[in-house]
Amino acid sequence: MTSVFVGGQTYLNYINGEWCPASAGQTVPSINPAKRTEVVGYVQSSSLVELKQAVASAKAAQQGWRKLSGSARGDYLFKAENALERRIDEIAETMTREMGKTLPEAKGETARGIAILRYYAGEGMRKIGDVIPSTDSEALMFTTRVPLGVVGVISPWNFPVAIPIWKMAPALIYGNTVVLKPAQETAVTAAKVVECIAEAGLPAGVLNMVTGSGSVIGQGLAEHPDVNGITFTGSNQVGKRVGQAALARGAKYQLEMGGKNPIIIAADADLDLAVNATISGGMKSTGQKCTATSRVIVVRDVYEAFKEKLIGKVKELKVGKGMETTTWLGPCANEKQMETVLSYIQIGLEEGATLLCGGGKPEDPELKEGFYVLPTVFEGVSAQMKIFREEIFGPVLALTQAETIEEAIQLANDAEFGLSASIYTQNISNMLVFIQDMDAGLVRINAETAGVELQAPFGGMKHSSSHSREQGQAAIEFFTAIKTIYIKS
Ligand code: NDP
Repeated sequence: MTSVFVGGQTYLNYINGEWCPASAGQTVPSINPAKRTEVVGYVQSSSLVELKQAVASAKAAQQGWRKLSGSARGDYLFKAENALERRIDEIAETMTREMGKTLPEAKGETARGIAILRYYAGEGMRKIGDVIPSTDSEALMFTTRVPLGVVGVISPWNFPVAIPIWKMAPALIYGNTVVLKPAQETAVTAAKVVECIAEAGLPAGVLNMVTGSGSVIGQGLAEHPDVNGITFTGSNQVGKRVGQAALARGAKYQLEMGGKNPIIIAADADLDLAVNATISGGMKSTGQKCTATSRVIVVRDVYEAFKEKLIGKVKELKVGKGMETTTWLGPCANEKQMETVLSYIQIGLEEGATLLCGGGKPEDPELKEGFYVLPTVFEGVSAQMKIFREEIFGPVLALTQAETIEEAIQLANDAEFGLSASIYTQNISNMLVFIQDMDAGLVRINAETAGVELQAPFGGMKHSSSHSREQGQAAIEFFTAIKTIYIKS
């Protein structure tokens, strides 16, 4: 295609063990959000023709793959892990150039992808069933797990290595074949991850990737009659559409969606630690994590002291290109996301919240070609305001005062989401009441809202998820079906 952009190699779809272009020959540029004129690569703008080929090849590969032992499937994942480890620097740099997060964060995420592959490779050797005593003493009753069949993976741009891997690795180890549709914004990074898994020598058709727009390829995957399970991470609006499409044809689905995660600062909190956790949870990855801290609910006794420390530190955060070592906060991942964040800042002002710092784009001329937003803090945010209620997905914190811990928890629960929640306190009864009363899938005490360990279940309550859990051993619940076996002599 003709283009005003500079640079960029072309990346292909991966179907039936081959790298191939979209049949219509169309590509789209994936651009660097730190400098909009720089192309990271061109990716295929595929149609339903390629999607159908990918699903057909995944279906054809199903029987052979499910017949392998778990440990044989695990061997492939160990090889994929090695391939990713060899390319960690290159893939982390691609991620930083493609979606903006700082290089140390991108490297950390890639290392996590490696660890997830290792974890699920080992999972092939673990138990997949239970013996249940029958009421008949001459019978043997037990359960086993079987794969769903073909699994469709729809992944977002905010964790372009970790999220596809934490969906694909368990899907594969439990015997499913996979069609991945990555976010178009980060499809170059996804292609490199698929290259690593393909390098492990998987049989043709076991893993396929088709890039293209969400409304065509994503929706097509959700609606395809031969896709037996669909796992999605992204916005609520799209997630619910994906879930409805799967439900309508009786397929299994798993949706991980938004968050509006609160941190509570109790009167007895260590304020320095609490400030660090608020900034790290709220601003790392430019606030673009579903677990990012968004609402900061501070008990009145320590409100002013906390606020002063917080603002002092937020003002020091260095905004810049993710590739530069001095940068703490990179750009938003794309222009649409930057516009969304700026529009919420405007809404906050119009709703009467008080802007304490940030509130727009940086003035540095070096940054004018990127999708940057200054780290922003509002105070006087009431529970009725949109900036208290809606997911912003950017470096914006909303401060709200509470009289007591009970009121703080009530405010924290006043949200349609329930993904992660954190409290800073040294008081055991505060901790216990928080554990008991907080409606969130992740409840974190003296730790930031973001950050999950790959061996533990991950997922939210309320509108944050479809109520299943990802990661760790919880993943088996989605990626397999239980068979109950009864044998009578
Ligand atoms: P989307 O929900 O649009 O995208 C997530 C994935 O779904 C992408 O792969 C996308 O493809 C795909 N998709 C888009 N439309 C459809 C469709 N009709 N059917 C099936 N799949 C589809 O998120 P956005 O990227 O637009 O981000 C919007 C907001 O979503 C953010 O501001 C944030 O609030 C939230 N979000 C939450 C995430 C989380 O981790 N929970 C992650 C990302 C976003 P493509 O990118 O090619 O359009």
